[in-house]
Amino acid sequence: MKTLKATKDTYMLTLCISHHLRELLQPPDQLETLKMTHQFPSLSPEQKKELSNIAQRIVAPGKGILAADESTGTMGKRLQKINVENNEENRRCFRDLLFSSDASISNCVGGVIFFHETLYQKADSGKLFPQVIKDKGIVVGIKVDKGTAGLNGTDGETTTQGLDGLSERCAQYKKDGCDFAKWRCVLKISDGCPSALAIAENANVLARYASICQQNGLVPIVEPEILPDGNHDLQRCQYVTEKVLAAVYKALSDHHVYLEGTLLKPNMVTAGHSCTTKYTPQQVAMATVTALRRTVPAAVPGICFLSGGQSEEEASLNLNAINQVPLHRPWKLTFSYGRALQASALAAWQGKAANKAAAQEAFCTRAKINGLAAKGEYKPTGSADQASMQSLYTASYVY
Ligand code: 13P
Repeated sequence: MKTLKATKDTYMLTLCISHHLRELLQPPDQLETLKMTHQFPSLSPEQKKELSNIAQRIVAPGKGILAADESTGTMGKRLQKINVENNEENRRCFRDLLFSSDASISNCVGGVIFFHETLYQKADSGKLFPQVIKDKGIVVGIKVDKGTAGLNGTDGETTTQGLDGLSERCAQYKKDGCDFAKWRCVLKISDGCPSALAIAENANVLARYASICQQNGLVPIVEPEILPDGNHDLQRCQYVTEKVLAAVYKALSDHHVYLEGTLLKPNMVTAGHSCTTKYTPQQVAMATVTALRRTVPAAVPGICFLSGGQSEEEASLNLNAINQVPLHRPWKLTFSYGRALQASALAAWQGKAANKAAAQEAFCTRAKINGLAAKGEYKPTGSADQASMQSLYTASYVY
């Protein structure tokens, strides 16, 4: 009898120890997850409503974003191509041309991303640029990141800077008329890239940025751009895109970001720029939508692609094909193009006032085509002009 009791006690003791051991051996993040059953309040219902309304307005059916937030240096490279000096007035002139385009532009442009300098410049009419945009019913956004910085010990990978003082800057931008923000992180594909460090670091910094924006009433555009540099094929880009986006959405969840009040700005899934296999827009579209369906929650209202060096026409055809993929797509799939919305306009302008109307027409044409592509309704006529077919690729693109 005694022996039996002793055996039972030993058994209970062993059970107890093994339970504790199991708890101790849990990886710390799993333990954290177990404890994360309660969220302390961060956004009020009113704040959430405002954020989700802003996001919905930007990606209303057939609308996308004009990314006009090139830094001074990047704008310089654009202007150099048309032999125009990179000074404040010339930068203002080009932006004035875009922003004072025909009011019908608001049927296909829901948001414009500004660079700090432009936010405080005036149109020829004397009106501040943000007001010009708002008067057209378009939402004003601002680039808030401060560019990339190297991650030491990696193969030239980067993170993005700008968190210090971000809350104060966001509060000021909100007062100055902005309702959304953009932050660009950059990842690259090569034999050993992106590294686990680059994926984790960029996901975390994007989530931290997004959380700060939302506290200040700005809808964060979350941009983890995977560069097209390299000779990788479509499948490799899809695989990497899935890993990167999965990490981004895990980080956004960890940081309690309100997804309904965010937008995603990803690369399309394309083969590397020097890949010898060429893929059709339908193949690009299927790979892109598959990667997004596997990683982006349905709560996200819109996905606004960057053009990433595609020609204007290529970016429109790919977006159109994306919106024709025969799979359920719970989010709006639209554009947030920089180069692919401005190249023809720049080429038509050449820095000359006399060309302003022609440049505006070129811009409006592209915007309207992309508005149709955002609904899968673009029917190319086959008469796309030379400028719109030209590759806009630059190696290791800096924005
Ligand atoms: P592209 O469309 O020229 O790639 O740029 C969009 C952008 O905003 C990159 O951050």
